[in-house]
Amino acid sequence: KREDVPVEVHGIDRKLVDERALDVVHTLKKAGYEAYVVGGAVRDLLLGLRPKDFDVATNATPEQVKSLFRRAFIIGRRFRIVHVIYGRGREHEVIEVSTMRAYLDSADAEQVKGNERTSKGELSGMKHAVDASGRVLRDNVWGPIEQDAARRDFSINAMYYDPESQIVVDFHHGIRDSKKKTLRMIGDAATRYREDPVRIIRAVRFAAKLNALGFKIDAKTLEPLVASRNLLADVPQSRLFDEMLKLLQTGHSLASIEQLKATGLATGIYPLLDVVVERANDPFVKMALQDTDRRVGEGKPVAPSFLLACVLWADVHKGWNKRLQPRGNQRPPPPFAALQDAVDEAFDNRIGDVSGRGKLGTDMREIWMMQPRFEKRVGTSPFSLVDQGRFRAGFDFMRLRAQVGEIEEELAHWWETFQHASDDVREDMVDAQR
Ligand code: ATP
Ligand code: MG
Repeated sequence: KREDVPVEVHGIDRKLVDERALDVVHTLKKAGYEAYVVGGAVRDLLLGLRPKDFDVATNATPEQVKSLFRRAFIIGRRFRIVHVIYGRGREHEVIEVSTMRAYLDSADAEQVKGNERTSKGELSGMKHAVDASGRVLRDNVWGPIEQDAARRDFSINAMYYDPESQIVVDFHHGIRDSKKKTLRMIGDAATRYREDPVRIIRAVRFAAKLNALGFKIDAKTLEPLVASRNLLADVPQSRLFDEMLKLLQTGHSLASIEQLKATGLATGIYPLLDVVVERANDPFVKMALQDTDRRVGEGKPVAPSFLLACVLWADVHKGWNKRLQPRGNQRPPPPFAALQDAVDEAFDNRIGDVSGRGKLGTDMREIWMMQPRFEKRVGTSPFSLVDQGRFRAGFDFMRLRAQVGEIEEELAHWWETFQHASDDVREDMVDAQR
């Protein structure tokens, strides 16, 4: 039931397609392969939104793709894709190119697991396996476009756009659903949640993002959503952590939290997310979430460390104050040591063993540990603080604290002035503190 939809019907403005994505498609097609803009970019183009990134699907293998571009890298094991790089430094752009994959249901995949070779698709090569609950563990069996479409999650995420012919290839009524403003899972929703429970979180994320356009989750997609929640227990923590960040950092964090509540998923997706939802109405956390949404909307970068430092600040702050209380005739510890201790405790209680998050943890710690240093406005201390690499994050955090009345507004204003001032003015400002 392939439908080739012409521009007169879908109305996508080709000018909105990133020129580097156009180059990737053109290069692949010139070399004799099929190539399309695919997934979220087609959805967003169709809805008149500006896609934040462009993915390309092709029938060339990762090695074949790599050989066609000067700067291209094969990424991933679980899901091998090619990153084609344009430009350098801050301005660089990555176009993600994936080889079209076969859709195998659990039974197919079991067969492939015991048998290196598969009859599906002539490009098929790699092993493909599912675990006991039917989740796809390896997903590198190449296949034709109709199977690549069928393994995707929602109908509006499964369209293929050829910017040269301006045809949208649609297998699952993606065009109809985007007109009807419906978020609909391809196939049987319960089965698809079982295959990959992360789709539960994705349903919430897209519903929140598209809510402003009037989108609703289709009844059959919604129905098994809550009952599928316990399947998330089998998903690796690191994947849940990444999905949580996507929920909070794609510009619709407050809407996503509302959507979680509205669908009955306010708790039980991921422990740290429970904390976010619970605290979303605390002034400090709410402001951090609003700030994040605004920044993403303006195309500015957002750091997960900053947001999570805000979310867990209540724990750190409480633990810090507790340690500073005088107990009997025991002297309280120095503030810095007390804070360090409180930070350790918050990490133990809340972050647990999210592995491979070293950098994130270090950054959060740095933001927190900078806080008492803002109180010291004498000597050389302010000069070394502003020169610290993470000063800006620490300062933004301190300013939020001032906004909720946790510290004096005057302090935030002083640092705002100090960081932008000339050396002379800085000296004078420090002098005035004595
Ligand atoms: P965004 O604009 O937020 O990036 P997206 O649709 O591009 O949204 P991605 O996570 O970047 O979402 O995934 C790209 C595409 O890959 C999706 O549009 C979908 O077709 C497919 N996809 C991603 N994750 C899954 C999944 N868990 N199950 C099925 N298909 C998926
Ligand atoms: Mg994407």
